[in-house]
Amino acid sequence: MVRDGREGSIEVITGVMFSGKSEELLRRVRRAMIARRTVQVFKSQLDDRYGGIQTISSHDGREIEARPVSSSRDVAEFVDSDTEVVAVDEVQFMDSGILEVANDLANQGVRVIVSGTDMDFRGLPFGPIGSLLAIAEKIDKLHAICVVCGDLATRNQRLIDGRPAPAEGPTIQVGGLESYEARCRAHHLVPSSLDDQMPLISDREG
Ligand code: ADP
Repeated sequence: MVRDGREGSIEVITGVMFSGKSEELLRRVRRAMIARRTVQVFKSQLDDRYGGIQTISSHDGREIEARPVSSSRDVAEFVDSDTEVVAVDEVQFMDSGILEVANDLANQGVRVIVSGTDMDFRGLPFGPIGSLLAIAEKIDKLHAICVVCGDLATRNQRLIDGRPAPAEGPTIQVGGLESYEARCRAHHLVPSSLDDQMPLISDREG
């Protein structure tokens, strides 16, 4: 089906944290607005305590308003009938229903753009992203720079108190004190338990 004379489609922007996914999503949204398309932007969030309108910001400080959603049903419910472009950021947090919602919208002629990280901190597929890649018309996998060696980074390194986090931690840590770095495969460390902690990268390489 077409909406306002245009075919629908699904675009996925994926890759490691800091690879520029939000920048790319914002670029596409801004260009759609310049083209006078009707655009709705959503941001998936697990923790909906904060409610209200949120923003997606890129590194150059520009930002755009996004409606927080905690389930794929929210997206289906909030999309207006005349919307031509639907963007969803942080889509790795969505439930698997996002596949059907994205497909239905694309079948109705909507350009669907989703963005999210492809791997969890263990280096395993994150949420619905793998399946979204399978049904997408267009895929862009972006890379960051490994903070250890400067090569291309593909993996999300979770750190707790500056040390690699063990594999058995929860995939999603709401409000945790952990931090993340972009790293290449060789410098991505996932010890099997806290007792088995790897030394700090700087201890090993310094
Ligand atoms: P994402 O949405 O993929 O997490 P953002 O769009 O929020 O990424 O941020 C991308 C920006 O992050 C880059 O343009 C760069 O300025 C900055 N940045 C910080 N750390 C790194 C890194 N290790 N590799 C590449 N870019 C980085």
